Amino acid sequence: MARKIIIAGNWKMNKTIAEAKELVAELKGLVADVDAAEVIVCPTFTALGAIVELAAGSNVKVGAQNVHWAESGAYTGEISAAMLKEIGVEYVILGHSERRQYFGETDKTVNQRLKATLAAGLKPIVCIGEVLEDREGGNTESVLLTQIEGGLADITAEEMANIVIAYEPVWAIGTGKTATPEMAEETHRYIRCTLKSLFGEAAEDVVIQYGGSMKAANSGELVAQKNIDGGLIGGAALEADSFAALIKNAVN
Ligand code: PEP
Repeated sequence: MARKIIIAGNWKMNKTIAEAKELVAELKGLVADVDAAEVIVCPTFTALGAIVELAAGSNVKVGAQNVHWAESGAYTGEISAAMLKEIGVEYVILGHSERRQYFGETDKTVNQRLKATLAAGLKPIVCIGEVLEDREGGNTESVLLTQIEGGLADITAEEMANIVIAYEPVWAIGTGKTATPEMAEETHRYIRCTLKSLFGEAAEDVVIQYGGSMKAANSGELVAQKNIDGGLIGGAALEADSFAALIKNAVN
């Protein structure tokens, strides 16, 4: 089965509701003719409801940046999968490196969030990636293997086909340093082989996004690689025109 390209913008802690609406109003028009890729924006929690409404009926889908694993309860500051589902959110980013670095996210908590996400019928984007020290020490594959085995523990092959993986070398996030297309492809190939050993043929259907300083100037070359099926975008997703240009170059 041919995998559909999925390109998601992770806005992180940026944009008020008014700013978010302005961006999406413009983006809807710019990507109205894009059929070859699924386009997702992931605003902050406060803007999600307004953006779901604004994006309805357009080519733009909406994702959240995190979710808690419990259904409800004494978890001050957290959001449940049912709450996201209720307002029409479709995707959820899980295990972003910033959550791992600043908020104590582990493979175990990624796995708990993943199970809650799937149970609610939301589509997860599970982030994995090595830090510079891992890359330089030749440990990229073992780090990714640990993240894959831990984050995807107890997941069935059927569930796996609906999980998006975002490979984000941490040293390339927000730094302007992008992995070369060849370097990224080599790692994506490793990730797909690992998924194959764990989930069999379902691995062929798994969308594996690249993330790390992707922009209009390099999205075409990156997404042209056999095992790179889209992108998770930070900085270049914060303006409608740069995000739309990145998407168009990726699919053309
Ligand atoms: C990210 O934060 O997921 C990311 C890829 O950021 P940037 O595109 O800015 O490197």
